[in-house]
Amino acid sequence: MQRVESYTAGAWRRPSGEGRPLRDAATGRVVAELAPAGADVAAAAEYGRTVGGPALRELTFHQRAAILRDAGRLLLADQAKEQLYDLSYCTGATRSDSWIDIEGGAGVLLSYAGKARRELPNSRVAVDGAIEALSRDDSFSAAHLLTPRKGVEVQINAFNFPVWGMLEKLAPAFIAGVPSVVKPASPTAYLAEAAVRLIIESGLLPEGSMQLLCASPPELDSLLDCLGGQDSIAFTGSAATAAALRAHPAVTARAARLNVEADSLNAAVLAPGAAPGTAEFDLFTAEVVTEMTAKAGQKCTAIRRALVPERHLDAAAEALAEALRAVAVGDPRDRSTGMGPLVGLAQRDEVAASVAALREAAVPVADSCDLSGVDPVAGAFMAPTLLQATDPRSETVHTTEAFGPVSTLVPYGSIDEAVELVAAGGGSLVASVYGADRDEITDLALGIASHHGRVLIVDQAMAPASTGHGSPLPPLVHGGPGRAGGGQEMGGMRGVHAHMQRTAVQGSPDMLTAVTGEHVDGSVTREHKGHPFKLTFDELEVGDSITTGSRTVTRADIAAFAESTGDKFYAHMDDEAAARSPIFNGLVAHGYLVLSFAAGLFVWPDEGPVLANYGIDRLRFAKPTYPGDEIHAVLTCKRKRKLDGRGYGEVAWDTRVANQHGEVNAAYDVLTMVANAPGVDGAPEASGDG
Ligand code: NAP
Repeated sequence: MQRVESYTAGAWRRPSGEGRPLRDAATGRVVAELAPAGADVAAAAEYGRTVGGPALRELTFHQRAAILRDAGRLLLADQAKEQLYDLSYCTGATRSDSWIDIEGGAGVLLSYAGKARRELPNSRVAVDGAIEALSRDDSFSAAHLLTPRKGVEVQINAFNFPVWGMLEKLAPAFIAGVPSVVKPASPTAYLAEAAVRLIIESGLLPEGSMQLLCASPPELDSLLDCLGGQDSIAFTGSAATAAALRAHPAVTARAARLNVEADSLNAAVLAPGAAPGTAEFDLFTAEVVTEMTAKAGQKCTAIRRALVPERHLDAAAEALAEALRAVAVGDPRDRSTGMGPLVGLAQRDEVAASVAALREAAVPVADSCDLSGVDPVAGAFMAPTLLQATDPRSETVHTTEAFGPVSTLVPYGSIDEAVELVAAGGGSLVASVYGADRDEITDLALGIASHHGRVLIVDQAMAPASTGHGSPLPPLVHGGPGRAGGGQEMGGMRGVHAHMQRTAVQGSPDMLTAVTGEHVDGSVTREHKGHPFKLTFDELEVGDSITTGSRTVTRADIAAFAESTGDKFYAHMDDEAAARSPIFNGLVAHGYLVLSFAAGLFVWPDEGPVLANYGIDRLRFAKPTYPGDEIHAVLTCKRKRKLDGRGYGEVAWDTRVANQHGEVNAAYDVLTMVANAPGVDGAPEASGDG
C-alpha cells in the first residue's frame, strides 16, 4: 500500500502510525493511505529558515528564475506529466481538468521565470519605485528597498488543485527568496506528493527551499505554533478554516502574515442587451456550463450565480438545461467524459446538503444525468444541478456555496439591481459580464469591481482568445475581498513583492547608490577620460560618466528636421503661432531633434562593446529648446543588468540634455546592450587576427 510521505529537513519520511485510506473518486478503490506525518513537524519551519532561506538568498532573482524554468520544463516532460495525469484521474479529474492542474501549474513556474528575468534585476535586492529626494540640494534621499523575509511560507492548500494550488504559491515565494513548506489537503495529498517528489528528486531546487508536510490538525498546530513575524501562511480553503487561522496566536500575537483564499460565490451576468440569438447570449450559456462541469464544479472560481435579465430568464434556463443534458458524466479516464465525479463521497454529501439548503429558495431547472456506465454507489458522481431562485434577494442563494457542479439562475430587473445582487455574495474572486453594449457593460463592470479581484468582460471580439471566467492567470491578481478571503496571490511581480519586506532606506545619495547598486541622483560620478562606450560590461561601473561637447540648434536644423521627417507641427514652423501657445515663447525645436542631436554628441561611432540601443525609459522634455540654444549631454551609467550566458548585459544610462544656462531640456534613460570582454560568459572569443 502506498503511504503518502512527507519531505522535511532533507529527507523523505514515511509515517508509521495508523492511516486512513484515500479512495479513487470514481471506483472507491484505495489509492493510498494517509497517516499523521509523525516527523518533527516544527523542525520543518526551522529547516526552511536556516537551510532553505540562506540558500535561496545566495541566488539572484535571475538564478532563481532559471531554476523555476527548469522545474516547469521537468514537470511538462512526457513521462513526468503522464505519471501525474494517471494519479489525477483518481481524484475524479478528467484529462482536461487535470491539464489545468498539472500543465497549468507548470505554466505558472514558466510564467514567473520569464517575468522575473524581464522585470527584476539580476541581483538579490530590488528597488520599488523611484528614489525620493528628501532635500533640495540632493544630499538626502530615500529608496524603497525590497528584501526577502527571513522566514518560511507555510502553504495550506485546498484539495481541488493539488499541483497548481501548490505551484502558484511556490513560484512568487521562490523568486522572492523565501522557502516554502507545503501542507497539501488530505483527499488529494498523493498527487501533491508525486509532483513534489519529481521536483525534489530532480535536484534542481536548493535544499530546504521546498518541503512537503502531510500533517493535519492537531499535528499541524505545532508548525503554526512556531511561526512569527518573518513567516507567512498562505491558505486556500473554506471560510471556517480561515476563521480558525485568523484567530491563531501566530497571526494575532506574533504577526505572521496570513493570506486567505476562501469561499466565493462568483457570478456571471448577462447584460440586458444580450438577448437570445446574440453571440454574447451563447457565450454566456457556454461559459456557465463549462464552469459548472469543469472539475465537477469544484473550482474556487466556478460560477455559482448566473444573473439574467427577467425577460431572458426562460430562454436562458432552457438553453442551459439543454446544454447540461448533453454533458456526459462518467469515468474521468474515458476521453468522452465531459464531467467526472467529485473528489469523494464525503464531498458529494456536503454538496448534496448545500443543494438541499438552496432548494429552500430555488427550484431545480436541471438535476439529472445518465450514470449507467459507472458505479454510482462507490463513485462520487452527481448530476450537474441548475437551480432557479424563487426570490432573487434570498440570502440563502447568495451565501450558500455548493462546492460542486451547482449553479443558481437569478433574475434581475435593472443594472443597478444586478450590481446589488452580485454584491450580496459578500465579495468574490471573479465575475464575468456578457454583452456588446458598451454603456451597459461599463455600468456593470464598474458597479461590481469593488467586490471582486477579477472581472472578465465577454463579447464576440475577445471570445476566441479568452482564457475564460474560471482561469486565474499568473500575471493577474487572484483573490477577492470579503467572503473570498481578502487575500491576493500571483499578479506577476505583485505576488513576489508580497514576500519581501519593503524598507524605506534613507541616506546620502552615495550610500543609497552603494546599497541599491543603482546610481542615485546626487551621488559621485566618475568623469571618464576616454569614452565609457569603449568599456566592456565588466569594466563599466555604475557612476561612470561622460559630458559631451556641445552644439547649437539653429532654425535651419529645425526646418530641415521638419522637412525630412514630415513633422510640421505649428510650434516648429510658425513663430507667431508658437508664441501664442501658453507653453512656448516662440518657435521651438522638435523634442526628437534634441534627442537625435544628443545621440550625435554621445555615440561612439566605431565598432565596440556597445552592441545596440534597445530603447529609452522615462523620457521627459523638461524645457523647450529654442533656436540658438547650445545643448550638450551628460551620460551616467545608472544600472547594469547581467544576463547570464548571453555574452552581453543591459546597461541603463541616465541621460540629461542641458542648454547653455544649465537648464535640463530632456531627461531619460538610454538602454543599451553592452558586450562582455571576449570569451567572458558567452561573449565570442577575440578573433586571432587582431
Ligand atoms: P478546508 O476544509 O478548509 O481545507 C483546506 C485546507 O485546510 C486543507 O489542507 C485542510 O487540511 C486544512 N485545514 C483544515 N482544518 C484546518 C485547521 N484547523 N488548521 C489548519 N489547516 C486546516 O477546505 P476544503 O473543504 O478542503 O476546500 C474547499 C473550500 O476551499 C471551498 O469552500 C472553496 O471555495 C475553497 N477554495 C478556495 C479557493 C480560492 O482560491 N479562493 C480555491 C480552492 C478552494 P485537511 O485536508 O488535512 O483537513
